[in-house]
Amino acid sequence: MTATATTLHRPDTSTGFFGAYGGQFVPDQLKPILDDLAATFDACKDDPSFIEEFTYYLTRYSGRATPLFLCSNLTARLGGARIYLKREDLNHLGAHKVNNTIGQILLAKRMGKKKVIAETGAGQHGVATAATAALMGMQCTIYMGAEDMERQKLNVFRMRMMGAEVVPAMSGQRTLKEAVDEALAAWVQDANETFYLLGSAVGPHPYPAIVRHFQSVIGREARAQILEAEGRLPDCCIACVGGGSNAIGLFAEFVPDTSVRLIGVEPAGRGLTYGDHAATLCLGEPGVLHGFYSYMLKDDKGEAAAVYSISAGLDYPGVGPEHSHLKDMNRAEYVSVTDVEAVDAFFTLSRAEGIIPALESSHALAHAMKMAPAMPKDAIIVVNLSGRGDKDVAQIEEMVSNGLVTPPAMVRGL
Ligand SMILES: *Cc1c(COP(=O)(O)O)cnc(C)c1O
Repeated sequence: MTATATTLHRPDTSTGFFGAYGGQFVPDQLKPILDDLAATFDACKDDPSFIEEFTYYLTRYSGRATPLFLCSNLTARLGGARIYLKREDLNHLGAHKVNNTIGQILLAKRMGKKKVIAETGAGQHGVATAATAALMGMQCTIYMGAEDMERQKLNVFRMRMMGAEVVPAMSGQRTLKEAVDEALAAWVQDANETFYLLGSAVGPHPYPAIVRHFQSVIGREARAQILEAEGRLPDCCIACVGGGSNAIGLFAEFVPDTSVRLIGVEPAGRGLTYGDHAATLCLGEPGVLHGFYSYMLKDDKGEAAAVYSISAGLDYPGVGPEHSHLKDMNRAEYVSVTDVEAVDAFFTLSRAEGIIPALESSHALAHAMKMAPAMPKDAIIVVNLSGRGDKDVAQIEEMVSNGLVTPPAMVRGL
């Protein structure tokens, strides 16, 4: 463990900056509310009774620890580095998101809040929030763009089944950005009673530090599991990056181990031209979005750019501030993978191992598949399989039927 790496990657908890990035760029009325949350988090995170409760729900509700699985078939097929998957897809609700919603709902409980609000794009975070609110007997309101509600009808139905009220955001493009704006406005109105449950390692301080903390269980388990399986640390850890929560959760425990390459994979979508991707760290520049300073993709007016990815969980024009810092420090590398490459990985893992990955996670896997053949056979790659792909099967089936994607040769003929 090198002193520089540990001191540099820790957020300055008083101001919430990771190097130059992060902070609180919010209206004055939100500052005391965020400070209150930061104080609660500081008091809870090392409190044994809080840790015990968090661990209880991770274990008994979500089924942790998730396994670290060696993909023998895929490894043999690629003929290089051994590929391990951290199976976050085996969590309750099928992704890593529940690690964070359990942690934050327990903070809400400690703060005596009775209501939670959240915003959601594709609906995955809304579903995870609705589930944990039901679990804790709290009232739950989810803001979702009216357009997204139409596209993600089943997730809206899931949220409602679990007792959440789903409020359509009707302004602007009626997607995630408007849902964030309307959820924040509702929070400001009722902040004493209401807890804002944020879904990724983004937003104003203390959210990036909170989400990192709750998701770091991924890296803690993976580190112990690879040491047990291989007797040494991996050569690289790879994760997809939307807002950056599953990636920072895996990376957090490995940052001080400078022999381990940390690689974040962003969506290159249809290609790296404006509006066709969401490769924020690869192509963006620093700016303020949604209350924090970090890399972002801008349009020609300096506002948040239009973004696109085949996977709804990755199309965000910003990124968590700690990733911006890790990039500038050269501690982590950020690359991009196209829709076509991600879909190829989606099919390949399904066929090779009988595991259908989320399209988001398929981006990380696709990059591992590019790297592995050029690496020696005793090299080790850990890929964070952030979620399962059941939610994406209908979308892919339709694209195959319409001739928009072609399964790789190993899958054809089915
Ligand atoms: C939401 C989601 C992501 C993207 O979010 P991060 O905060 O970048 O982790 C990735 N994978 C899955 C399966 C998701 O549901």
